[in-house]
Amino acid sequence: MSESRTILIVEDERHIANLLKKNLALDGYEPLLATTAHAALDHVQSRKIDLVLLDVMLPDGNGIDLCRNIKHRRPDVPVIILSALGQSSDRIKGLKSGADDYLPKPFDLEELSLRMEKLLNRFVNSQPAGSQFRLGEAVIDFANFSLSRGDESVHLTSKEAQFLKYLIEKRGQVLSRKQILEHVWGYEQIPNTRTIDNFILSFRKYIEKDPNHPNIILTVRGIGYKLVKTS
Ligand code: CA
Repeated sequence: MSESRTILIVEDERHIANLLKKNLALDGYEPLLATTAHAALDHVQSRKIDLVLLDVMLPDGNGIDLCRNIKHRRPDVPVIILSALGQSSDRIKGLKSGADDYLPKPFDLEELSLRMEKLLNRFVNSQPAGSQFRLGEAVIDFANFSLSRGDESVHLTSKEAQFLKYLIEKRGQVLSRKQILEHVWGYEQIPNTRTIDNFILSFRKYIEKDPNHPNIILTVRGIGYKLVKTS
């Protein structure tokens, strides 16, 4: 089964980067190094990455913003922040930016490797096989940006695709409109929360057996939406 998994190390301190690289290789991973935020984003957009280890203080930016940016583009890739800033307020900032875990420096390599394994398993299990994903009556093809039901098919914009990915990743959890806005639109341009409701309406037409009585994408009154767990 094993094609080795690529771990992106974003770290500008050479000795830490080398240490991580060596240990990841020993654990059977394929390490990939970026020493700047810029290079990290390049990799995220162009390479198959299975997990990101992220330093906070980078020469051309900070890891918190970078984390938000990575999660915005690739919600399917787990991120662990490794930082010398170990205060709980720093950890909270990191986790709020979408990081899946946060480890203060200096860290224990064995602990890091356990946490990575855990995250990788969780993310693999929650991932659709290949790029296609069945949801209710519909099939979503994330590679081709399409949503289809029977012979009918619509093209998804990148926002719509990100929105669906986010719902799938957070299956079983209630997502507030604000959370959805922040994750799908980031801080670029904040649309009206109505936009979300309209997206949901159009998704339901394909996904639900009876769009007027949805049982897959549920409305949680006064809060937002929830994708049911079993689908
Ligand atoms: Ca640094």
